[in-house]
Parts: sequence; structure tokens; C-alpha cells
Amino acid sequence: MKPILFDFTYSELEKFVTDMSQPRFRAKQIRDWLNRGAPDFESMKNIPEKFRAQLESVAQTLPVRVTKKLESSDGQTTKFLLELNDGEQIECVLMRTSYGNSVCVSSQAGCAMGCKFCASTLLGLKRNLTVNEMFAQILTAQWELRASVNEKSIRPNGDANNNDVSHIVIMGTGEPLQNVENVIGFMERANQDMGIGWRRITLSTCGIVPGIKRLIDWGRPINLAISLHAPTDELRSQIMPINNKYKLSEVLSAADEFTELHNRQLMIEYILLGRKDVNGETELYNATPEYAEMLSKLLRGKNCMVNLIPWNAVDERDFVSPSGNAVHRFQDILIKNGIHTRIRRERGTDIGSACGQLRLKHKRGENAS
Ligand code: SAH
Repeated sequence: MKPILFDFTYSELEKFVTDMSQPRFRAKQIRDWLNRGAPDFESMKNIPEKFRAQLESVAQTLPVRVTKKLESSDGQTTKFLLELNDGEQIECVLMRTSYGNSVCVSSQAGCAMGCKFCASTLLGLKRNLTVNEMFAQILTAQWELRASVNEKSIRPNGDANNNDVSHIVIMGTGEPLQNVENVIGFMERANQDMGIGWRRITLSTCGIVPGIKRLIDWGRPINLAISLHAPTDELRSQIMPINNKYKLSEVLSAADEFTELHNRQLMIEYILLGRKDVNGETELYNATPEYAEMLSKLLRGKNCMVNLIPWNAVDERDFVSPSGNAVHRFQDILIKNGIHTRIRRERGTDIGSACGQLRLKHKRGENAS
């Protein structure tokens, strides 16, 4: 395995270049390129070509390597399949939105949580990602944004910051609160080194209560999202095994403590799931009007926003997506009960951007494009 220069300290980098009979200042040049997300040495234009070729044969730039890049048909979403140094694959998604450029970051290779509707967990957990492996995901997106400016010229609204990553959502593969120390290290780094404000970082969890407590101790005012998906323990335990360990009431009270501390709105994620009955008709699973009433009751009085997510089909899973009508009926009941809610616009479904599907296809040796 080639050494990853991004993981070197500055003095290690200096030693590395001087050992290759190069002047010390090459370390500074290389570090600047790495901080911009340079995927290879070829891109490092102020470094002599011969030395670049030498570097290419003995070292690697970042701890992630793009093995596949998919663009959605509207050009707004780019999905990366990234290879880590031990051959593991992870996914990362860049979403260009009206409010900025948001990157969906993975926190683990695979996932141990076993949620019944999700593709990320199908092959289990491989390992936690390091701080650098998470940080390199946003650098990869940043590099892509800058490269697309050069290729496609500046975007029409001319916003100077339009080519920077402005938002991070930790909603990719994995359960961030199972890797909480590295995830905290990553968020600190994104804030310090890339100037991404705490309020522009969202962490999504299936509800690991000690992890939420750790975020409370940490004390930064990020956004917290809870993947709820069911308003009763009975139903939630059927689709999310973690609910057997941390019950709804415990999860919500830890989340309330977090959001009250920072005076933030809690985000609730609720995937709407249907199932085929014996006659092949779609029946609503967690998306019935009764569950909408129960959810309203559970959340009444809380400062929260419910994101309703129409389920992205995963072949291996038994659910189906409910009709648009059923989704709107569910939402109407929440609104009637005074609960803030919106239906999440799905991005990049045409490129398998939803939830671990690209990685899964890659692992199975299918062609995901
Ligand atoms: N483990 C964390 C973060 C990763 S999942 C968590 O559970 O929050 C990010 C969000 O996508 C979660 O709300 C998850 O439940 C949801 N999700 C997983 N599979 C999905 C699918 N097939 N369609 C739509 N949303 C899905």
C-alpha cells in the first residue's frame, strides 16, 4: 500500500520530500494541493512534471480514491463511489441546492444497525471511518465543485461562494453515533479548516442515546435529526432493531435535551413505507392515517420539523413506496395537528443516490451505472 500524504504531519511531509532530494518548500506546495482535495499528483501544476510522476509511483494523495462518479440527469447531484486504502468502498453525495452545496457524508463502511428498509446494512458493518476518511469526502466534493466551474463556467447567479461546500449532512452509510469520537473530530475539522458553521452541519441518528448525550457534552449547536420512522415502540421495533435497546421515549427525551440546550429545531425523519398484501394490493405500513395521528400526538408541543421521506425502493427489501396521495394524506393530518412537516424531495434517484445502493451493487459486482 502506498503511503497517503494527506495523513502525514507537516514535518513528516517535509522529511518525505527532502528524502526524495527535493527542496523543503515542496512540502508546502503539496500540502496546499491536498487541502484543496487534489485527487492525484498530476493536478499539482506548480510541481515539476518529473517529480509529480515520481510521487505518483510511490505515494497517494487522499485516503479516498474516486472509483465511480455519477451525475444525475438534472446535473444537480453527483454521487461518488470511493475506495479506501484497505479496499473498502464508501459513498458520498454532492447536492447543489438553492441554499448552497451540501455533501452527504458516510461515517462507516457498512452498518450494523439492521434497519429493515435500508440497503446500507445488508452486508453488515465493516469498520468505522477515520476523521481523515470523512474529511476527504468533503474535499472530494469541493474539488469537483471547483473543477466543474472550470469546465462549465461560473454558475449564472454569480454567487462568489457558490463553488464551496457550505453544508454537511452526516446521513450517508453508517450510524455516526457508533463512531462518535471520529465524527466529532471530523465536524471540528470541517468547522476549523473549511469554515463550515455548526448550524450548517446536520447529524442523523437512528437513536443511540449515549451518543446523543456525548453530543450534549460536546456542546456545539449542530442540527440533530432522528430517524424515527414509527410512532410506537411496537411498530418501531419491527423495522429498527435499535429500538429494542433504546425506546422511543428515551430517544426523544435525549433529543429534546440536545435541542433545548442549543435552542434548535429537532429534525424528525419518517420514511413512508407500504407493503404488498396477499392480493398484490399496496397496503400502508407505517403510513396509515392512524399512525399520522399517533405521530402528531407524540410530537405535539415539540420544536420539530418532520421530514416525510417516500421510501427509495431497495430490491432486497419487502416494502413498496406508498402512492403520492397516501403521502399527502399523511402530511395533511400532521399539518392539521399543528406539526411542521415537509416532504423530502428525492435527489439523484436516477443514479442510485439513495442510501447505500451504489456500494451494494458494486460489492455484488453489478454495473451500477
Ligand atoms: N444511521 C443514520 C444515518 C444514515 S441513514 C440514521 O439512521 O439516521 C440516513 C436516513 O436515510 C435515515 O433516516 C434512514 O432511515 C434513511 N433511509 C435508509 N434507507 C432508506 C431508503 N431506502 N429510502 C429512504 N430513506 C432511507
